Amino acid sequence: MSVNRITVVGAGHVGEHCAQGIAAKELAGEVVLLDVLEGIPEGKGLDQWESAPIEGFDTRVVGTNSYDDAAGSDIFVVTAGIARKPGMSRDDLLKTNAGIVESVSKEIKRIAPDAIVIVVSNPLDVMAYVALKTTGFPRERVFGMAGILDTARYRSFIALELDVSIKDIQALVLGGHGDTMVPLSSYASVSGIPLTQLLAKERIDALVERTRKGGAEIVGYLKSGSAYYAPAAAATQMCEAVVKNQRRILPCAAYLQGEYGMKDVFLGVPCQLGEGGLQKIFEVDLSDEEKAALTKSAEHVRSTIQALEAL
Ligand code: NAD
Repeated sequence: MSVNRITVVGAGHVGEHCAQGIAAKELAGEVVLLDVLEGIPEGKGLDQWESAPIEGFDTRVVGTNSYDDAAGSDIFVVTAGIARKPGMSRDDLLKTNAGIVESVSKEIKRIAPDAIVIVVSNPLDVMAYVALKTTGFPRERVFGMAGILDTARYRSFIALELDVSIKDIQALVLGGHGDTMVPLSSYASVSGIPLTQLLAKERIDALVERTRKGGAEIVGYLKSGSAYYAPAAAATQMCEAVVKNQRRILPCAAYLQGEYGMKDVFLGVPCQLGEGGLQKIFEVDLSDEEKAALTKSAEHVRSTIQALEAL
């Protein structure tokens, strides 16, 4: 896929690091960093571009308040919105961020009707739904970042627990991005060795619990915002998979149309990402317990959509 322009909407913590990651990996000719705050995207964009001679990348970084500068972008990463503060759940962001994501999606539809949209704003699964409905784009071109982050957190905790290389750890976290996420211990392995052979059930359960609360753990430390290094890296990885047509299988929030017995709901599932965006959804075998957890997670996403529609 020949990509000329990727726009990151929202030049806050996640957006700025995502733009820098995209530029450093030269995933496009130009990265546009767009925000409503005057001066912030321009300043951050220029600063990033000034790092190009040192880092050695040729991707131009442009900061702007105008969608005209983002016209015809191949990919949009939507990070616009407010982030959590201590004591807040992702759902507390619902009303504010739904309004923001709706307005951003209208602009995307207007200036780049063929674009791929990667949603990051929270509550993730519902914001992806807002973007899908507002743009009217097919599900292949609207999906959300959450599963890669949740899985990365799980993998990072497993690596610490076993004191082994992060590179050897495979894992899969499905479901909604929130307390109802579903880390699949049966699919976690270290160099092909099932995790269940390496750790006692109580330890695995503890790591799963830490993964579920991984976002809140960071919010608890930062106090004034939520995580951004790992989230930005995850969104950048999704861009890379699409741009390079890597056909990677990564857990992403996808709009289910019958997969896993569910319909018309965004949920984290294993997705193949490559040219054109979402190429395929993989359905993996689940235990009864995992199925029940996934259903519960979908119910939570649905009820949040209903709460939004009732506002
Ligand atoms: P942040 O507050 O640092 O940045 C958000 C930026 O969005 C701000 O610069 C703000 O000015 C901008 N913005 C607000 N309205 C806008 C609009 N209409 N158009 C363009 N820009 C607009 O927040 P952050 O830490 O970067 O987080 C961004 C979002 O991503 C939050 O909703 C957060 O909850 C979410 N998030 C999701 C995940 C995930 O796994 N999906 C992980 C981390 C953060």
